[in-house]
Amino acid sequence: MSDPARDRAALVDRLRSRERIDDERVLDALETVPRHEFVPEARRHRAYVDSPLPIGEEQTISAPHMVAIMATLLELQPGDRVLEIGTGCGYHAAVTAELVGAEHVFSVEYHDSLAQAARERLAATGYGDVSVRTGDGKQGWADHAPYDRSYLTCAAPEFPRAVVEQTRPGGLVLAPIGNGRQRLVRARRRADGSLDRETHGGVRFVPLK
Ligand code: SAH
Repeated sequence: MSDPARDRAALVDRLRSRERIDDERVLDALETVPRHEFVPEARRHRAYVDSPLPIGEEQTISAPHMVAIMATLLELQPGDRVLEIGTGCGYHAAVTAELVGAEHVFSVEYHDSLAQAARERLAATGYGDVSVRTGDGKQGWADHAPYDRSYLTCAAPEFPRAVVEQTRPGGLVLAPIGNGRQRLVRARRRADGSLDRETHGGVRFVPLK
């Protein structure tokens, strides 16, 4: 029988040799969060393969390397308040929680069925202090703003205006941007609300609704 912790450590070792994944705190977070607990039972045997997997509602959990790249680009520090759009199964939120503290993570999910399942999984794996709300992520989550960091795990034509407004000046926003052809874009929010953007390569995410 396979041992999830050993399979996870082997996956993290393979990720460590990849370009753009060099933050040991991020790698430690991936080594800690039990990805197999977040994927549907029938897919568990593939939880420690570096690929996306279906999680229901025609959505997918991102591949581990993509979660690692995004967490690295966000330069997450303990205590940072983070907004996530697209909770999905809750895995990426758990990785973020490892880096900043679960009580600082606020995640919005469009599908109520996924939001509920994510809440249950997060609670069962020790990340019950992550807050999950069902709703349209284009509106962000104003109640807990301002955020130090905000990111989308679904592709949008442009950064949603509310998400940018709810991120503090000097804070970072990160998202797959584009219709069809997408690029991972990281931007620093300036005091006047405008964005200082950097592009980080082509990606494939499900579209924002
Ligand atoms: N981070 C997730 C991956 C989610 S896939 C994980 O670790 O599993 C993208 C998610 O974005 C899907 O769950 C999808 O339902 C959600 N989504 C799509 N459009 C949205 C919107 N407008 N607001 C909030 N969530 C949205």
